[in-house]
Amino acid sequence: MTTSMIEFFAPLKRRAAYTVNRTKKGDKFYSYEYFREHFRDEIAEDCACRCVYCDSHEMHVGGRESMELDHFRPWSRPEFAHLKNDPANFHHACGRCNRLKGAAWPSTHETEPHDGTVGFVDPFTDDRRQYFDVRADGTLVCKKHPATYIAKLLQLDRPFLKLLRLRRILRAELSAYTETMHLKIKAVAAGEGSLTAEQVAAEWLKFREYQQLLELCDAPLDSQRGH
Ligand SMILES: [Zn+2]
Repeated sequence: MTTSMIEFFAPLKRRAAYTVNRTKKGDKFYSYEYFREHFRDEIAEDCACRCVYCDSHEMHVGGRESMELDHFRPWSRPEFAHLKNDPANFHHACGRCNRLKGAAWPSTHETEPHDGTVGFVDPFTDDRRQYFDVRADGTLVCKKHPATYIAKLLQLDRPFLKLLRLRRILRAELSAYTETMHLKIKAVAAGEGSLTAEQVAAEWLKFREYQQLLELCDAPLDSQRGH
């Protein structure tokens, strides 16, 4: 079973232009270091504040200060050296994914980031949902290449990420459930609706169960924050 309630790997869109993306002289980009200091927030927003690889929200992996600016096309490769300071080559990535990715660029295609077997999916130009799906228990599903390559390189099946995905699913379910229950309870309070007091009590217990499940999911996250 896969979940459709929330959108994992949602499509991303880059803003038309970053606040300042050229030096005053005209044709040269600001340095990467300058960009990292001044415009990382714009890159982060374009990436929906999530790591473009594991789809974790920055708040769940140590906050924005622990995120990194990934060079999608690695500038250390001679063919991409000119992209070192190009903001359109920057992606918001968690430290772990960024480090595991390193300077890997296995695509044998001349221009595309993947060749249909190995390589990467650019979340700004390609729909990651075509490649990845998430089961109701938080397991990642690789639908087609190069998803398998990416998942293996970046260890996207690691237990902590599975837990984050499960927590996201539970939160979405809890929020939808609360919304429905709120209306039902309001109707009972107004002397309308179809629920008896016993049914409302039973629903409340179900709600508590959901909450306890979430607390179980949160516990490892809370303990991680202390380190
Ligand atoms: Zn990541």
